[in-house]
Amino acid sequence: MSVNRKFKSEKRGVLGGPHEKKVNLASFENTCRHVFRVVRDGILLVDAKTGSVEESNPSLLRMLGLAKKDLMKIKIWKIGFLDGPLSSQAAFGRLKRGSQSCYEHLRILSKRGRRLDVDLECAFFRAGDVDVVQFNIRDVTERLRLETALREREERYGKIFNNSFLGIAIISLDLRISQINRTFSRITGYGEDDMKRLTLTDIAHPSHLSAIGKILRAAKSRANGDYHLESRYVGKRGNVIWTNTHVSAVCGTDGKPAYLQVIIEDISERKEMEARLTERNLRNIEREKTIQKLKDEFIFIAAHELRTPVTAIGWAMDLLDDCRAKRGIQEPDVMEAMDILRENTKRLSNLVTELLEVSRIEYGTFRVVPVRTSIAAVIDRALESVGSMVGEKSVTVRDTVLPKAVSDVFADPMRVYEVLTNLLTNAIKFNHVGGSVTVRVREGRNELHVSVEDTGCGIGTEEIPKLFHRFYRIENDAVKDVPGTGLGLFIAKQVIERMGGRIWADSEGRGKGSTFTFSLPKAK
Ligand code: ADP
Repeated sequence: MSVNRKFKSEKRGVLGGPHEKKVNLASFENTCRHVFRVVRDGILLVDAKTGSVEESNPSLLRMLGLAKKDLMKIKIWKIGFLDGPLSSQAAFGRLKRGSQSCYEHLRILSKRGRRLDVDLECAFFRAGDVDVVQFNIRDVTERLRLETALREREERYGKIFNNSFLGIAIISLDLRISQINRTFSRITGYGEDDMKRLTLTDIAHPSHLSAIGKILRAAKSRANGDYHLESRYVGKRGNVIWTNTHVSAVCGTDGKPAYLQVIIEDISERKEMEARLTERNLRNIEREKTIQKLKDEFIFIAAHELRTPVTAIGWAMDLLDDCRAKRGIQEPDVMEAMDILRENTKRLSNLVTELLEVSRIEYGTFRVVPVRTSIAAVIDRALESVGSMVGEKSVTVRDTVLPKAVSDVFADPMRVYEVLTNLLTNAIKFNHVGGSVTVRVREGRNELHVSVEDTGCGIGTEEIPKLFHRFYRIENDAVKDVPGTGLGLFIAKQVIERMGGRIWADSEGRGKGSTFTFSLPKAK
């Protein structure tokens, strides 16, 4: 008996008749054979009465790694690979005519020992006068493997989700919260049920409501966006919670955002600490400001009060010196005392003048009156005023280096003279005996650069940025005995900047001389 043959004859019985029907029957049979050959599921046809295998398709042979001859006419319950529900003749016998049974996830072994997971479907039908059981066997090994991998991954992520130290919320695209983890609940005080009724903006602090709404909408509309914000929420107990909020879209297989993932980190303690520090800093700044104001007032009052007696001392000293000269007093002690008096009165007078200038700068009453000014004339006057110092220190002042035609500058000539005198005085004071000083003028496009170069003690790189600070003086053996107040360059900077220029210092380092340069705008 051949099940196949009987099956064919039954189909003929159904469709048989006229010629046309025969043609249709033939083509139907061809179709069935084709399907039987190419279908990916394994198919096994078994004689229901004897239980012997009558036919199997190529897919089943491939699946089991068997040749057709290995299977044909073998009793179905003797096939070792079909363990489980059909492993005995009795079990096979229980398959009812007209019934259909399905078994899922059966474990079978291929001939080569490969373990396969299959779904098995048994269908009972009659072909002619023979009852046939058709077994459809689907290899679900790969599907089960993927399902298992997916389940394991879900479990793993589920653990990460629940045990994370960060609060995590899964938000649907209509911005409703669909899931939160334990930490999210601990931070906000809301349970999962509470949160399912709420949106993230419902628990946002009013001051961050719009910012949070904005990043949620942005994340929702862009697949690759990651958004970060320091934001505040109001917890269930009404407490304010500072967080680092991180929002990103998680995409579906179509590459479009499927839901949003919000991660929050509780930074309330840090924020509280920062607030306390800021408060303390502000208090410190205020206190420093008050102290500075008191210092400025003190300097102004002291300088103001000193100006009259210092002027009087200078005037009395000149009178004394006249008397001495008239009486022909030339004793060395007296002459020396007069020199000391003169030198110290000059220092005192300079100090008072500079302190008053600093006070005016601090109080905003310091004025410059820019006019068209010939820089060459100012340089001549300044050089003249430091002439006596040049002689004392045997410093050579080289010829002023001027371009062919020097433009006038737009500046206050008196103030430029003071700045230049200060720079020249320093260039001589901080020079070696026998050193030299050069004044150089360079024409820029819109400004003139005036430099005072010296061959003196030079300045360390780390000191250069501090030179123009109030009261800053370099403290080293080479310069510590040179008299000064540390105010000249501070005042010079204020003066030059008020006239629209800049001032800076260059030096190759200690012992290598220095160059102080200022720029001034050209007169139009
Ligand atoms: P003072 O000369 O009265 O001390 P300044 O403000 O004019 O005050 O100068 C500040 C400090 O800068 C000086 O004490 C000195 O240490 C340094 N300095 C200024 N000019 C020179 C220079 N040409 N060479 C070396 N050091 C200088």
